[in-house]
Amino acid sequence: MPDPATNHQHAEAAEHAATEQALTKHGSADNATAERPLTERGNAGRSAVIDRLNALAADWSPIPSDSRPRVLILGGTSGARALAGSLPGFAVITSLAGRTSSPLLPAGDVRIGGFGGVEGLTGYLRAHRIDALVDATHPFAATISANAAQAASRAGVPLVVLRRPGWVEQPGDAWHHVRDLEEAAALLDGRRGSTARVFLTTGRQGIAAFADVDAWFLARSVEPPEPPMPHRLEVVLDRGPFTLEGERRLLDEHRIDVLISKDSGGPDAKLVAARERGLPVVMVDRPPAAATAHTVASVAEAVEQVHRLFRAGPNDR
Ligand code: NAP
Repeated sequence: MPDPATNHQHAEAAEHAATEQALTKHGSADNATAERPLTERGNAGRSAVIDRLNALAADWSPIPSDSRPRVLILGGTSGARALAGSLPGFAVITSLAGRTSSPLLPAGDVRIGGFGGVEGLTGYLRAHRIDALVDATHPFAATISANAAQAASRAGVPLVVLRRPGWVEQPGDAWHHVRDLEEAAALLDGRRGSTARVFLTTGRQGIAAFADVDAWFLARSVEPPEPPMPHRLEVVLDRGPFTLEGERRLLDEHRIDVLISKDSGGPDAKLVAARERGLPVVMVDRPPAAATAHTVASVAEAVEQVHRLFRAGPNDR
């Protein structure tokens, strides 16, 4: 199935730049020829045109070859972005869900929008002759990860899963584990009164779960949330990574007394700041993830795993 949103921006830009460079370089000679009447040009005119075509051909920068192995990265995370920039020698396409209006774009090609379930992703893998699929989505993006596992299996494409490890409770932490956002909301609601001042760091789409909770919220998201939302809500628009100093300041300035977080893993400045202040943390545990053959915990391991796939024979994948 053709993918209208596929953005071959870099290949196109390189092609365009090469054309422009060649035309600019040979433009003055060509203009001189063009200014003379056609009848005066004769063989000299024809050979000038041939010379120009030869020069253009010699200057042409090759478009990335189709013979490079093609890797599709399911992204939307900083790890996916880093990985896309760490695979020279591969034709990398990153797929984004399209949740944010101005995403940080990775190196390589980018396509945006859902595939249309397992069927759609399977069709994409086949139609675009993808040689390896990397699921580098967020650990809470359970649907696309399940789809990736099924589609890779159906299309016979090897799958690498990049999942950074979850956080581990440290001495001094006071974590309350919950299964999902609804359970986190219920936990807060049980303490209703409510003078609670809550720092909600579960992202824009997680805010709706707290709409009926009677507490004051500071919610952080990349883009403004949409209703339903808690009626006492202040929003801080920001994109990580966040500094420890910044997290301390937010907690202090807003007199936060509880932090709500998904167990995303990675930089943990907010958890350190909460620990320093003895604040309770409501930690939303990760949804269960299917075990896959090639699951790695870091970008470096993902790079190594992708290389290993192409060193191995098809039967070893
Ligand atoms: P999800 O619930 O697992 O996926 C819902 C649907 O969105 C999928 O079925 C798929 O649509 C589409 N989709 C998701 N990721 C996609 C991708 N990388 N490329 C193309 N389509 C994608 O995902 P989610 O929790 O809404 O997260 C959406 C994206 O945001 C993910 O890519 C994830 O990495 C990123 N993200 C999520 C979180 C989070 O807390 N959930 C946090 C940070 C970043 P089709 O079925 O039509 O293919």
